[in-house]
Amino acid sequence: MEITAAVVHELGADFQLETVTLGEPVAGEVLVAIAAVGLCHTDLAAQHGHLPFPLPGVFGHEGSGTVVSVGDGVTKVSAGDKVALTFNSCGDCTSCRADHPSYCLEFMPSNFGGARPDGTSALTIDEKAIGSNFFGQSSFATHAIAHERNVVKVDPAADLAMVSPLGCGVQTGAGAVMNSLDCQAGGSLLVMGGGSVGLSAVLAAVVRELSTIIVVEPVAKRRELALSLGATHAFDPADGPVSEQLRALLPEGVNYIIDTTANLAVIEQAFASLAHRGKLGLLGVPADPAAAFPLSLMGVQILGASVIGIVEGDSDPDVFIPELIALQQAGRFPVEKLVTIMPFSQINEAIAVQAQGDAVKVVLVHG
Ligand SMILES: [Zn+2]
Ligand SMILES: [Zn+2]
Repeated sequence: MEITAAVVHELGADFQLETVTLGEPVAGEVLVAIAAVGLCHTDLAAQHGHLPFPLPGVFGHEGSGTVVSVGDGVTKVSAGDKVALTFNSCGDCTSCRADHPSYCLEFMPSNFGGARPDGTSALTIDEKAIGSNFFGQSSFATHAIAHERNVVKVDPAADLAMVSPLGCGVQTGAGAVMNSLDCQAGGSLLVMGGGSVGLSAVLAAVVRELSTIIVVEPVAKRRELALSLGATHAFDPADGPVSEQLRALLPEGVNYIIDTTANLAVIEQAFASLAHRGKLGLLGVPADPAAAFPLSLMGVQILGASVIGIVEGDSDPDVFIPELIALQQAGRFPVEKLVTIMPFSQINEAIAVQAQGDAVKVVLVHG
């Protein structure tokens, strides 16, 4: 079928809306009419070549929509179901079988391979294959082909524009708190960076009833937003070393830290803020994949610190996304306060709005 997709033709180029051909879903695949798709940092990292992906290609990995048809063998969803699309995984490796699919041994080829496992592409322009299957979906388009593994059936009453960011950015921040660090009520949390992932961590920390929730963020209006979402404190890094600001508040240090920045100087300050037996979660995407960070061996040991790498909030999406939607519907997880809705046709403008800090999480909608 002919669809409209936002195509990137070369590294760093703008998205170009154009007609491309989408094939039929093969065995295990699901064709989805996209209602909404969030804009996530990883789309832009791929656009600029920080992640390998064949170009021309179609990105987009926070899609939501309605199932149009399914390929052979698909039983999880059927035509007419409302679904969230999330990251892809193999379903068969040690991590997938242990319900930790974000640490799938096939994560890179399943999400960034740019084609089906057999090398074919669902997307073509003038019968030439283009990069597809980004995060198992390539949902910057009117329609996308996903997989039974990475579609999650959602409540028919759910607002799809608010569902789409759950598929990556929101579940990453919320899952860091609720799954990876398993933050306990009464504890303290320090969040480095007040973007969509960091603020999703704040929303989850409120649900988990942490007593002290601190966001470090240079942009004043994001600090204000953090406080309005339930953060108890918001530090401006310009006011002095974060570890000093933190220890003025919590002399023994903080129990949990989430770094969303992947900035080495920021991580160093974060670690200097950690309490004994504290946990430091690292989930920022470094611009340089070879970036390494030195931590004091003695410091890690004496503190009894845990340093935990986090992908997609260690989410098992079939379980975690419906949980987040239920919290959302109960008014306990107000994702809408993070979201700015824009038309899909304004995808390039949306990137500029998000980059300037004027929007925390842009969700593009069709129509
Ligand atoms: Zn796997
Ligand atoms: Zn993402």
